[in-house]
Amino acid sequence: QQSLSPTVLPQRRLGTVAEESSKTDRHEFQAETRQLLDIVARSLYSDHEVFVRELISNASDALEKFRYTALSTTNETQLAAKDRALEIRITTDKPQMQLIIQDTGIGMTREELISNLGTIARSGSKQFLEELKQQQQAAQTSSNIIGQFGVGFYSAFIVAQRVDVYTRAASPDAVGLRWSTDGSGTYTIEETKDVEYGTKIVLHLKTDCREFSDEDRIRTVIKKYSNFVGSPILLNGKQA
Ligand code: ADP
Ligand code: MG
Repeated sequence: QQSLSPTVLPQRRLGTVAEESSKTDRHEFQAETRQLLDIVARSLYSDHEVFVRELISNASDALEKFRYTALSTTNETQLAAKDRALEIRITTDKPQMQLIIQDTGIGMTREELISNLGTIARSGSKQFLEELKQQQQAAQTSSNIIGQFGVGFYSAFIVAQRVDVYTRAASPDAVGLRWSTDGSGTYTIEETKDVEYGTKIVLHLKTDCREFSDEDRIRTVIKKYSNFVGSPILLNGKQA
């Protein structure tokens, strides 16, 4: 009888209501994105660590975009926190099995979140899907071409069971946003307080990928991929 305790159902209901509050928008991934996410998440692709390269390169791009915008903006009031430190901060949290990759770059608006992370604009990812269609093979074979074409941001789902993106665009009126998904069909967007300018990506690692919440493991991977990154990378607060 204990498992049917009357408190169980109401509690779960409350949880659902809180998650789907009026301020939380739920969106469906575009069909192609859904297909890509499915393949990436189920793939037996062995080179797991490439996701670090992709997320650092996105962080680096975002910082470059901010630098460029800062230089080319004549009206400084249009750009928030212009004098912030431009850097990439990586944090490992072993107990929580999390890896966090944060940048102080250009950030994203709600519309940009939807178009950049909800659809596939990237040429590499498009090529990847084309190649898949031609091969008409099982995910196991196709997983080899993940490395060949690269799947950008979506490579996070090689190692993560849930991804939260906190972001705030570089204009003074921009609000903090949280984008979140477990990669299965839909994602949510909601306004969130206390978000720094830039983008913070929280990877909730799959159990068998928990190695990426280990500081030494991540340091090795960063060293391998960060040669061409033009901004400082801090790992748990220290130069990586
Ligand atoms: P690509 O980098 O080739 O454009 P990705 O899949 O890696 O493709 O990223 C998709 C888009 O998402 C980027 O073009 C960018 O607009 C946006 N994006 C991803 N990561 C960040 C970030 N850290 N800061 C700002 N925008 C980002
Ligand atoms: Mg990229």
